[in-house]
Amino acid sequence: MSAEVAVLDRAPARAETPADWGEAERARIRAKVARFAPPPAKGPDGRLELVGLSREELVAALGGIGEPAFRAKQIWHWIYHQGTTDFARMSTIAKPLQHKLAEHFTVTRPEVAAVQTSADRTRKFLFRFRDGREAESVYIPDREEDRGAVCLSSQVGCTLSCRFCHTGTQVLARNLGPGEIVGQFMAARDSYGEWPSPKGEARLLSTIVLMGMGEPLYNYDNVAAAMRIVMDGEGIGLSRRRITLSTSGVVPMMDRAGAELGVNLAVSLHAVTDELRDELVPLNRKYPIKDLIEACRRYPSASNARRITFEYVMLKGVNDSAAEARALVRLIAGVPAKVNLIPFNPWPGSPYESSTPAAIGRFAEIVNAAGFSSPVRAPRGRDILAACGQLRTAAGKPSGG
Ligand code: SAH
Ligand code: SF4
Repeated sequence: MSAEVAVLDRAPARAETPADWGEAERARIRAKVARFAPPPAKGPDGRLELVGLSREELVAALGGIGEPAFRAKQIWHWIYHQGTTDFARMSTIAKPLQHKLAEHFTVTRPEVAAVQTSADRTRKFLFRFRDGREAESVYIPDREEDRGAVCLSSQVGCTLSCRFCHTGTQVLARNLGPGEIVGQFMAARDSYGEWPSPKGEARLLSTIVLMGMGEPLYNYDNVAAAMRIVMDGEGIGLSRRRITLSTSGVVPMMDRAGAELGVNLAVSLHAVTDELRDELVPLNRKYPIKDLIEACRRYPSASNARRITFEYVMLKGVNDSAAEARALVRLIAGVPAKVNLIPFNPWPGSPYESSTPAAIGRFAEIVNAAGFSSPVRAPRGRDILAACGQLRTAAGKPSGG
């Protein structure tokens, strides 16, 4: 990571005003993340990886080898509905064309470098991408029902450095591409044998949360492309209501995500004063609480049917007092919201302790009495370092070839 980015993100100054935000600010964010671009979709052998292309890009790729647009529809179905990775198994396509496709294209998954399953059935995957970079995903089964959520990573590492987060101790290596993001979900499905995409039936991998490694709104274009693929009704077909994007508060990009994707929004709040939030979530120095809450009020899904989730990590003696619970309900008054209280998950060398159950209970009660649902998130997969904020891969250096 360059020194310039380190300065921008690790100790941002509160120099800008909300009036500066908007297209100019979004352009700055885009320029800043461009240098962390994922590898090109074309592999070293010259074949183009199809997973991650939009429908339009798939049509263009097939056009490039003289195939008509309807082929794209067929192949899309094989890739995203059937989960096929082998052209030879695409039985609606004639053999000669299967060979031709295999000469020009690939349909792959990220390599599963490691899998661990926790005592509570949470399963953590370490994925290795083509350039050797790695990221983790976690499948979190519901406690009672036969379904669950897949927590996907959006970046290898993170440019931000929230004090309580293990990923934040790892510098950003690079952004993940659309195929790498959707590929995590598809590989997790492979692991549970959930192909073809079940239509309307119960399924294990029924929800996506963008809460793994990285800040999804600092890799917006790739995350958006991946979510459009996941939401496409002729493939994986997850509804936007089954997708939640979690952000540490990249205010200008929240508006865009709301307008273009309309997925559920989770906001990592964690503190009720700028003084404390500046310390816990350094991005707050750039986008302070007042502007963050205003962006939440503007978020299009913020109606009673679809509430914003405020995430609040419970840190013993730091942000867990009754006075802070009361300040929290004043802060978010009028926002259709729920508050997810997350007991702090420790990691090697972490500087905090989790609040006591009594403190969490008292906090939850105050928030609840003010009319906000305030579930306490049960830690899942702690024994395999798969719980919120525990993900981190080695050194951010390529470990592969
Ligand atoms: N970068 C995004 C999404 C990834 S972090 C974000 O910050 O929102 C997903 C959630 O885990 C965030 O709410 C984050 O604040 C929380 N988290 C991070 N470290 C944690 C820890 N050690 N214990 C509990 N929650 C943690
Ligand atoms: Fe990055 Fe989110 Fe961790 Fe903060 S909490 S360092 S934004 S992954």
